[in-house]
Amino acid sequence: MKTREYQILLHACSQEGCLICKLALESTRRYLEAFKYEQFTDVGIREELRRTQGFCHTHTWQLVRMGASLPLAQAYRDVLSDSIDQLRHSTPTAPGAGRLRRLLEGRNGAGRASSAGTPGSTRPDCPACKRHALAEERYIQDLRQALLDDEFMGQLSASSGLCLEHFRLANELRQTAVHGDWQQRLQQAQLACLERLDARLGELIRKHDYRFQDEEKGPEMHAWKQAAGLVGGEEIQ
Ligand SMILES: [Zn+2]
Ligand SMILES: [Zn+2]
Repeated sequence: MKTREYQILLHACSQEGCLICKLALESTRRYLEAFKYEQFTDVGIREELRRTQGFCHTHTWQLVRMGASLPLAQAYRDVLSDSIDQLRHSTPTAPGAGRLRRLLEGRNGAGRASSAGTPGSTRPDCPACKRHALAEERYIQDLRQALLDDEFMGQLSASSGLCLEHFRLANELRQTAVHGDWQQRLQQAQLACLERLDARLGELIRKHDYRFQDEEKGPEMHAWKQAAGLVGGEEIQ
């Protein structure tokens, strides 16, 4: 019953912040580290990065902060040389004409469905974002299983809880069925976490009042940061 996956989740409960955020961010960081130290020379990865035109904004700058200078220089030079080729061989078109026309057509009656976006005009998914989404799915599957265990329930209820986005995903993701009342237990644990944070926020706000400023400060003084992580998702370290 107490698998390695279970132990990882249990340990994550003892740390501050949404455990799915933390674990998925760690997994993505390991992926970026592997890219930085070895995989940037891998032909397959270089090809993929050419196709996706690099990593997204978030992951490009995460790599910059990680000091991945040579890997970025080499991989992004590929992307640049593709752009140079395109510029050398293309003739100018009216700026954004196609996209604008599609948007206008979508707005003026007829095709309501077509206003929902312009498929094909978006850039392919960043490889690190894909890795992040896979990690989220895997940990959510493990979480549903772990929720059936009473020890885990206790730890999760005493933790920071899930951020709003991961709570939604944990409820809604279509995955291999886990038999048992995991969903009810998830809601019960999340409610305990939210109520505790709400009380701490109340205390923090109350102690900001000059009449109570001499009172001793406690864990509630960090509650604003916990609320930021819970509502907006945890920060990339
Ligand atoms: Zn989260
Ligand atoms: Zn990304």
